Amino acid sequence: MTLRVGVIGGGQLARMMIPAAVNLGIELSVFAETAGESASLAVTTLGDFRDAAAVLPFARTVDVVTFDHEHVPQEVLAALLEAGVTVRPGPEALLYAQDKLLMRGRLSALGLPVPDWARIDEEAQLAQFLSDHGGRAVVKTATGGYDGKGVRVVRTAAEASDWLALGHPLLAEELVEFRRELAQSVARRPSGEIACWPVVESIQRDGVCSEVIAPAPSSRGRLADVAEEIARSVAENLGVTGVLAVELFETTDERLLVNELAMRPHNTGHWTIDGSTTSQFEQHLRAVLDLPLGATGCRDEWSVMVNILGGPATGDLDDRYPHAFSDEPSVKVHNYGKSPRPGRKVGHVTAAGADLDEVVFQARAAAEHYQN
Ligand code: ADP
Repeated sequence: MTLRVGVIGGGQLARMMIPAAVNLGIELSVFAETAGESASLAVTTLGDFRDAAAVLPFARTVDVVTFDHEHVPQEVLAALLEAGVTVRPGPEALLYAQDKLLMRGRLSALGLPVPDWARIDEEAQLAQFLSDHGGRAVVKTATGGYDGKGVRVVRTAAEASDWLALGHPLLAEELVEFRRELAQSVARRPSGEIACWPVVESIQRDGVCSEVIAPAPSSRGRLADVAEEIARSVAENLGVTGVLAVELFETTDERLLVNELAMRPHNTGHWTIDGSTTSQFEQHLRAVLDLPLGATGCRDEWSVMVNILGGPATGDLDDRYPHAFSDEPSVKVHNYGKSPRPGRKVGHVTAAGADLDEVVFQARAAAEHYQN
């Protein structure tokens, strides 16, 4: 019997599930918004993911529906459940990846470490929060943000007035003094099994993940244990199925605080394709199908992933293959097949080896070939 997984969303995450599905003989079909998206190889349906009537016929052709992004509205998810479709992660878990205010409230209630935060409905509340937190705060839209859009550092309440005027509550957070940003990915099956990759360091530029070092340097021992414990607790308490990425701040006083949750394969886990026994894309498919999870050890001492962002002069990535391949033959390149608009994530490279400095150098040098 062929196993059938349906993915809503046709971006690079859906695309990178395709090789894993092919290897396992899983029939992967993708519901995309428009033709020519990154995962077009596996697209079977084009339509609007906000329209239950468009998604339902697609969902009925698969054993389980999962996601490339977290934007599918709760009403559409409810309609799928109502129709008897298996949805993983389920809507009651996904809610906390869709709404940062709900996520902060739930994690606080669970006693998990988060930055100081408050719900803001009007300017006076933000003014109070600012005066309680040294005159600076990070303000976030509760829904719809990604890659730093929907995140703003403010010093006065008026700086958030345009967002408040939209009529939705905002999230205010203390501006965390972090040493670095980390991410902990895990996968959980409906039957409860959990597998964790090592915690990684993620380096952001302009709110966008730029590089990932796996494992995070100097993380073995307590730091790795705490990161894993936090992610396990989130996965179990929220009933997450599939891959869960927990973005963390490591504070200057060595605490870990949860920043964000993603309930799907995540940019900080791309290194696993080349660097772990089981990639996050294969693991996600196994987990949503409730199959035993794969081993999550590292193939090399260090893996470093660098994103390739489109630049003003970036043409097709494959135009650069002759030079890039000959200069960095051991670096693995992943081309998302997207048109390289400036700032857009169009691919990534992964280098691996025993000497971290060398691996970082190789990965950056390879990425450079594509970026200018
Ligand atoms: P997005 O949903 O757009 O990814 P995040 O909430 O992850 O937004 O924030 C994007 C980036 O902004 C983070 O990776 C971090 O660098 C910075 N940031 C977010 N929240 C805080 C905070 N409370 N204190 C300091 N920096 C923050």
